Amino acid sequence: MPAAALPGHVALIGLGLIGSSIARAVAERLPNMSVSGYDADPATRATARELGLAGRITETAGEAVTGADLIILCVPVGAMGAVAQEIRDHVSPGAIISDVGSSKASVLAALTEALPGHHVIPAHPVAGTERSGPEAGFASLFHNRWCILTPPEGADADKVAKLSAFWEALGANVDLMDAPHHDLVLAVTSHLPHLIAYTIVGTASDLESVTRSEVIKYSAGGFRDFTRIAASDPTMWRDVFLNNKDAVLDMLQRFSEDLTALQRAIRWGDGDALFDLFSRTRAVRRSIIEEGQDDDRPDFGRSDHIGS
Ligand code: NAP
Repeated sequence: MPAAALPGHVALIGLGLIGSSIARAVAERLPNMSVSGYDADPATRATARELGLAGRITETAGEAVTGADLIILCVPVGAMGAVAQEIRDHVSPGAIISDVGSSKASVLAALTEALPGHHVIPAHPVAGTERSGPEAGFASLFHNRWCILTPPEGADADKVAKLSAFWEALGANVDLMDAPHHDLVLAVTSHLPHLIAYTIVGTASDLESVTRSEVIKYSAGGFRDFTRIAASDPTMWRDVFLNNKDAVLDMLQRFSEDLTALQRAIRWGDGDALFDLFSRTRAVRRSIIEEGQDDDRPDFGRSDHIGS
C-alpha cells in the first residue's frame, strides 16, 4: 500500500504540554509542515510566540484553523465541545478534526455534534508527564509511545491513514480501536492509577502536621512515586473522571473487590496469596520494560526530561 500523504498545515488549539510537544515534534521531524496555533490564555500565547512554537500564533481559534487540513484540539476534555463550536465556521472542507484527549467516547460525541459532516477522527497519544503549560513540552514526548485513534464507524479510510501517517512521523506507534473500548482500557491503565495516587496523597495530606512532616521526610518508601502522579493537572483530571465515569466506576468496583481480598489475606496471614500476587505484578513490570514502554533505571529515566 502506498504511504499516505502527510497533512500540509496543522492547526493546534491549546498550547500546553501536549500541544507544544506536537509543535516541537513537527518542527524537528516535519520542518516543511505549516503550523498555526491558538490558546485561550493570552500569557500562553505570548510564551508560545517567544518560544517560536508555530509559524503563526493567532488571537482566535477560528483564525488558527483557517486553511488547515489537520486540526488538533489539545485542550482539557471538558472544553472540546466549546472549542468545536468556536471553529465550526472556519474549518476547511475536507479537513481532519482530531484531538488528544485522555477519554474518547464523550469527545467523539461532542465533536460530531458540533461539526456535522466533517471528518472527525479522535486520537489519544498515550504519553505525558505530570507537568503542564507550553514550557513543559518536548519534541521526543511521543517517540516509541502509542497513539490510539478512535475513528467512528464509516470514517474515511484515507483520512484515517493520513492521521496515522502524521503520528508515525512524530515517532509514535499507531493503534486503532473504538472509543468505548479505549475508555475501558485507559480506565485501568491510567485513570484508576491516578485516582489511587490522588487518594493516597490526599490521605497523607489530611494527617496531623507532625505525622505529615515525617511522611514527606521518609517519602522514598513508595509515597514519593505516587506524589509524581498526584501532581498532575487538576483541570485535566477532573474532566477525565467526569467524562469517563462509567468505565472508571466499573474498574473501581473491581479494584475494591481485589483490595478486600488482599485485606482478607493479610488478616488471615495468607502469605502464599500475597507472594503469588506480588510475583504476578513483578512480571507485569518486566513486560512493560521489555516492550520499551518504560525504563529500567531507578528514576525510570525521567531525569532526562527535567527542564526540557
Ligand atoms: P495543559 O498543559 O494544561 O494545556 C492545555 C491548554 O489548553 C492550556 O494552555 C489551557 O489554557 C488551554 N485551553 C483550555 N481551554 C481552552 C479553550 N477553550 N480554547 C483554547 N485553549 C484552551 O494540558 P495538557 O497536558 O497539554 O492536556 C491537553 C489534553 O491532552 C487534555 O485533553 C488531556 O486529557 C490530554 N492528554 C494529556 C496528557 C498528559 O499527560 N498531560 C497525556 C495525553 C493526553 P488555561 O491554562 O488558561 O486553561
